[in-house]
Amino acid sequence: MTKRSVVLYPGLGVGHLTPMIELAKVFLHHGAAVTVALVEPPTKSPDFSAVVARAAASNPSVTFHVLPPPAPADPPGSEGGTSSAHHIVVMFDHLKAMVPPLRDFLRSLPAVDALVLDMFCGDALDVAAELKLPVFYFYASGAGDLAVFLNLGRMATSTGFAEHGDSIVSFPGAPPLKASDLPKEISEGSPEAKPILGSLYRLAEADGILVNTFESLETRAVRALREGLCVPDRSTPPVYCIGPLVSGGGEKEHECLRWLDKQPENSVVFLSFGSMGTFPKQQLEEIAIGLEKSGQRFLWVVRSPRNPEDMLRPLPEPDLDALLPEGFLGRTKDTGLVLKSWAPQVDVLRHRATGAFVTHCGWNSTLEGITAGLPLLCWPLYAEQRTNKVFIVEEMKLGVVMKGYDEELVKAEEVETKVRWVMESEGGQALKKRVAEAKGRAIEAIEEGGSSHAAFVEFLKDLDNVSLP
Ligand code: UDP
Repeated sequence: MTKRSVVLYPGLGVGHLTPMIELAKVFLHHGAAVTVALVEPPTKSPDFSAVVARAAASNPSVTFHVLPPPAPADPPGSEGGTSSAHHIVVMFDHLKAMVPPLRDFLRSLPAVDALVLDMFCGDALDVAAELKLPVFYFYASGAGDLAVFLNLGRMATSTGFAEHGDSIVSFPGAPPLKASDLPKEISEGSPEAKPILGSLYRLAEADGILVNTFESLETRAVRALREGLCVPDRSTPPVYCIGPLVSGGGEKEHECLRWLDKQPENSVVFLSFGSMGTFPKQQLEEIAIGLEKSGQRFLWVVRSPRNPEDMLRPLPEPDLDALLPEGFLGRTKDTGLVLKSWAPQVDVLRHRATGAFVTHCGWNSTLEGITAGLPLLCWPLYAEQRTNKVFIVEEMKLGVVMKGYDEELVKAEEVETKVRWVMESEGGQALKKRVAEAKGRAIEAIEEGGSSHAAFVEFLKDLDNVSLP
């Protein structure tokens, strides 16, 4: 039998590319040939080349192909917009403009047995239909989110939930959600909700959806998906829970890992807010005061504050002396380390000295925290993170909320209280125990014979039997 040949299309963003590369490894493990078709970000980013170079170097068996940029006549953000268009609009326009280069690339390949799309790449479904290719989504967030967003997708033309205020909204497969727990653009019914909802609406058109989760983590949502309760009036494609797909890390020499080597076991609180999370100076100061007062050891990734009107511009290195309270770095030098802009997160989380994780609840960070067995202090910031927070806290019971995340400021006292609680209290210990159990179940799921392994085998079987028009 010839090798299956699959093309993975991760769209934009580190949080989407990283788990897609892990998916590539699973395909390789099952004997497939894998090509990852990459999209350059709409604004030139030195990070993109670095990420691609690193991914290619550490995965020599995967082919990485950077698609040529879209035709200049059709610049991203041009559709009814200006160069100052909202970054979400810019992203969707860019992905739409990438359809012809993707089509040309797929046509140039001798054989493609399946195309696997990122959740925001719905426009590529049309290419798959045109070329008669089996097409699947890789949903880089959880089954709970999928249950909610499949349902939300039907609202593509609605004005969102603005009129619901903070009332409870019910979705099959999800605990009660406040309207404000949905992504801000959707809960507020802002114009950017339209492309998001339009894209989510198309999820049900695929031949199947691979989800980066494992069944026992999200039992209720998985059941609702399987029972077809989440896509009103349409049929739900098969859902395969094949995770957790988490990067293996592998950074060895970073200064923060050497620093962690010198700390006692389970003693350090790690604070990191995804690939894009930033705070204004005032919030950074509150965090610093809270950490210092808590007396706990900490490792904290700090970025320069971002102008919310300019989400796409790369941030300069933060000036820590200017951003943090006077004398903070000196006073905490024996117990804390502040990193500028970026940490080797997976390696930090898995270090024996790390004891808790203050996270923005991005799905990769969530899985990385759980698979490291760390209790989560949830501080959602953007995108679907508030929805993730509800699942983490209410369903999985693997985290607690940092109060004030939905107000102007999380106060220093809250940082101090929660950090102490998680590190010192019985409640914190009980939480840690629950996460350790979840970690065990995650490992079992991906082992041979585990639920995620079995789901991938089933997916491969179904892939061979997709009936094309
Ligand atoms: N990440 C990292 N170092 C950092 C911040 C983030 O390695 O300082 C990685 C993190 O390990 C995760 C990804 O970036 O794999 C962020 O993805 P996530 O889904 O958590 O959040 P997003 O960035 O998409 O909001």
